[in-house]
Amino acid sequence: MLVVMQSHASEEQVRAVCQRIESLGLKAHPIPGTIRTAIGITGNKGAVDLGVLESLPGVIECIPVSKPYKLVSRDAKEEDSVLRIPTPSGDVIVGGDKIALVAGPCAVESEEQVFAIAERVVKSGVRLFRGGAYKPRTSPYSFQGLGEPGLKILAKVRQKFGFGIITEAIDNESLDLVEEYADVIQIGARNMQNFSLLKRAGRAKKPVLLKRGMSATLDEFLMAAEYVLSEGNYNVMLCERGVRTFADHSRNTLDLTIVPAVKKRSHLPILVDPSHGTGKRHKVLPLSRAAIAVGADGLLVEVHHEPDKALSDGMQSILPEEFAELTEEVRQIAAVLHRQVN
Ligand code: PEP
Ligand code: MN
Repeated sequence: MLVVMQSHASEEQVRAVCQRIESLGLKAHPIPGTIRTAIGITGNKGAVDLGVLESLPGVIECIPVSKPYKLVSRDAKEEDSVLRIPTPSGDVIVGGDKIALVAGPCAVESEEQVFAIAERVVKSGVRLFRGGAYKPRTSPYSFQGLGEPGLKILAKVRQKFGFGIITEAIDNESLDLVEEYADVIQIGARNMQNFSLLKRAGRAKKPVLLKRGMSATLDEFLMAAEYVLSEGNYNVMLCERGVRTFADHSRNTLDLTIVPAVKKRSHLPILVDPSHGTGKRHKVLPLSRAAIAVGADGLLVEVHHEPDKALSDGMQSILPEEFAELTEEVRQIAAVLHRQVN
């Protein structure tokens, strides 16, 4: 259920409607838009009595939302959500006419490795840096990440280069730490339906990057995001990272068709990860071009200065020089679409 407020409704009136909703034992989610505020209602088991709310001052109408996802849907918010990620070098904007690039290694391996990559990619103007301190690996015998010491390395690189840091949390315990050290909390493909983790991310004070599960449908993907928003964190970016198919020429099949599909149904920004999406170094540049052309709000790219020695995902990591070329081409494609990389 959505309560649509008049364009000139006062903050006081929005507050009064929220209080009324809460007094019915429900949860109110005010969603400010450029023209008007809508208030999403969650927590209702059945139909809500519309009469009570429709008669309140400032309300235009109450509309039932038929889709299973409510807060992430275009019904709740007509215009695109534009995320502002505070970093030591100022805000990075994701969405609207702004495109954000994220670069860095798959995993934080050592301080030397992270600094070697950071000092190279910063020359391309990238402002968001990635690197996993907690690695969900297929084999328990593979490198599992450095944990908190890895987060401390990321904090150092953040300070030195002014990057915003994006890193993955794999459980509630690591999420507490990631929230403390990083600027964006990544929820990985394997955890897309870890509902308790999604709820915890929904209570976090930092933006969330939610990766698509490797066999998740669009509805499942949006429902996972709905979990985060329903707990009060509206700063969510989606990330397409490829799905499992019969194709065996790539690690995953990067589903770029999901970008316009998300844009049609949801106001949330969506990034594309061509690294996990293909698993092959030579496919990262062409798929990056395509992702921007299809309307993605950013890219998440694995970069390593010595990919052959990488402790994880070396095969899909590109060199810093290749990343420099990628950013140049992406800037030009973005310009055609009247967008800018920031
Ligand atoms: C990653 O980005 O490092 C990662 C593990 O990705 P995914 O969850 O998409 O596999
Ligand atoms: Mn990886």
